[in-house]
Amino acid sequence: MPTIFSQIAAGEIPARVVYEDETTMAFLDATPLAPGHTLVIPKDEYPRLNDVPADVASELYATIHQLVPAVEAAVDADASTVAFNNGEAAGQEVPHVHCHILPRFEGDGGSNVHGIAG
Ligand code: IMP
Repeated sequence: MPTIFSQIAAGEIPARVVYEDETTMAFLDATPLAPGHTLVIPKDEYPRLNDVPADVASELYATIHQLVPAVEAAVDADASTVAFNNGEAAGQEVPHVHCHILPRFEGDGGSNVHGIAG
């Protein structure tokens, strides 16, 4: 059974896609912890970070690098928490590697990406 993110990558489930190339995709989180909360995925399904081949990891990082300032600017954030939950015990609910770009605002009192506090 493909993950929900594989189904989004295949266009089988709707998502608010903000970026897409041959290898990676980014879309808004369905349950945002802050405005602009974005998820970046490799289109192919890898459960954990160490399952991702180096060439795909490089593409994934390039997309994250490009999107962090764009997401921050889009919602006028002061900073962002950029995080992977890697494994179920770390709070990873969808076993398809994804990077959270969570916009942060001065005085927002801390936030939490399913286990990653800040
Ligand atoms: P995790 O806990 O790090 O695995 O994060 C999974 C994230 O995926 C959560 O922030 C969810 O809100 C988000 N999510 C789950 N299903 C969907 C969906 O169908 N579209 C967009 N985001 C989703």
